[in-house]
Amino acid sequence: MKLLVIEDELRLAEYLHKGLSEEGFVVDAVHDGVDGLHMAMEGDYDLLVLDGMLPGIDGLGLLAALRQSKQTPVLMLTARRSVEDRVRGLESGADDYLVKPFAFSELVARIRVLLRRASAPADAERVTVLRLADLEVDLLRHRATRAGQRLDLTPKEFNLLVLLLRRQGSVLSRTVIAEQVWDMHFDSQTNIIDVAVRRLRGKLDAPFDSKLLHAVRGMGYVLELRSP
Ligand code: CA
Repeated sequence: MKLLVIEDELRLAEYLHKGLSEEGFVVDAVHDGVDGLHMAMEGDYDLLVLDGMLPGIDGLGLLAALRQSKQTPVLMLTARRSVEDRVRGLESGADDYLVKPFAFSELVARIRVLLRRASAPADAERVTVLRLADLEVDLLRHRATRAGQRLDLTPKEFNLLVLLLRRQGSVLSRTVIAEQVWDMHFDSQTNIIDVAVRRLRGKLDAPFDSKLLHAVRGMGYVLELRSP
């Protein structure tokens, strides 16, 4: 993780450079707003630690310029305590701020929170797309495709497919399906499941050569790729 510290108080900048490096970050430090903006725009930083009062361009001005083209997380340092200044800082695009003097451990904790938040979308993407053969289900976009072709599913059919896909290769009984998808606990209602599965199959498998959804006699249903 690469950080840029923009701070004109040399001793503080040096202290942050040393401390953050010891915490395992790769750290560059600059001492005025003009250099800071240039490096923030050109460099590939994961986060900026930005002082509010700087020669050249001040923190808010730098932030406003940066935000026109980059969404690098910014933690602002400020000597000002007023609520108004804090609001201005956050409105102009800072992700968090810390009032001087601050404890170094708090700075590190907040940096880690911001970095985690910034990397969260990529993590979520990994677990929210489920796949089997050419079937792909995007849980965030609520979208299912086979071989790139969109499947037009009802919400229940979508949930049924997600359940089968999450547990692909395992036979799911009608009772389990009824509980998980319909929140029903009556065996007498289970022909709803058969009807829904038949409809889902019509959309999921009928137009394609390889079949994914299979009935297992006396047991239930399973989603898996079987060799023809
Ligand atoms: Ca300053």
